Amino acid sequence: MSITTTNPEGAPSGAGTGPAAGPAPAVEVRSVSRRFTTRSGDVVALSDVDLSVAAGEFVSLIGPSGCGKSTLLRLVADLDTPTSGEVAVFGRPPRVARQNHDFGIAFQQAGLLPWRSVRANVELPLELHGTGRAARRARATELLELVGLADFAGHRPDQLSGGMQQRVAIARALAESPSLLLMDEPFGALDEMTREHVQTELLRLRAESGAAVVFVTHSIPEAVYLSDRVVVMSARPGRVREIVPVALGAADQRAADLREDDAFFDRVRAVREALHGTDGAPGRGTDLR
Ligand code: ADP
Ligand code: MG
Repeated sequence: MSITTTNPEGAPSGAGTGPAAGPAPAVEVRSVSRRFTTRSGDVVALSDVDLSVAAGEFVSLIGPSGCGKSTLLRLVADLDTPTSGEVAVFGRPPRVARQNHDFGIAFQQAGLLPWRSVRANVELPLELHGTGRAARRARATELLELVGLADFAGHRPDQLSGGMQQRVAIARALAESPSLLLMDEPFGALDEMTREHVQTELLRLRAESGAAVVFVTHSIPEAVYLSDRVVVMSARPGRVREIVPVALGAADQRAADLREDDAFFDRVRAVREALHGTDGAPGRGTDLR
């Protein structure tokens, strides 16, 4: 299956050049397979996956538990390598992209260091990469304002709610102004109200930063609300089953009442139908964790 690169938000493709000469896609996955060898035999986590995510585009991955969503994200993040096929991040190998700090990562658990203050957690990636003290402070201040936590800079993570901790993790992922954010069920542990709030916040941050996002979730409404396109995967071996375009308007203008909109429900239905066609087994498509 081959997917062409499109940017529903209409990113400029470069003055005087044709559309084909636009910027390199944020993520390009070509014929990627990943097989794990275990004591009880081989597991084909991903089989012949093709996916292209444009610069600035928001793409969600959704699919049954164990269909390879996290594996795919780990390949992009240079935390794993494919058995066959190729992954490129802004036209370069993931390792080079990682060295360039082209992407930031946020996973399900906020993963904050409990003994460091909120500010020190946000500064951590900058510290690791040798940014000077004053520049680190300035950046952390800016980011904490962005995620609405300026007043909590001196707090320890365990003094914050789960939603606030996730916002700290997002601020940390944004610390080096990455052009790509890789997020694996980052809001999975949050209650519904906090979750909707953080989703809206993520859309705003993304509109401000212009970063592309690859977002793993098991929530259909979440995927639809956030994304330009939703990639529906099928179980074992994990493949791209269908790509559902969403395009519910510019990210920063997606008000909360969009969730009540007919267009929103139409897209939720489209994703649900794509998922349930995943295989013939009843109930399989509903286990999205
Ligand atoms: P998802 O995130 O969609 O739930 P994963 O990408 O975590 O799925 O896993 C896909 C499949 O690959 C699962 O069957 C899982 O058990 C298997 N898998 C993932 N990582 C490993 C590993 N390091 N060793 C063996 N099997 C793995
Ligand atoms: Mg996973």
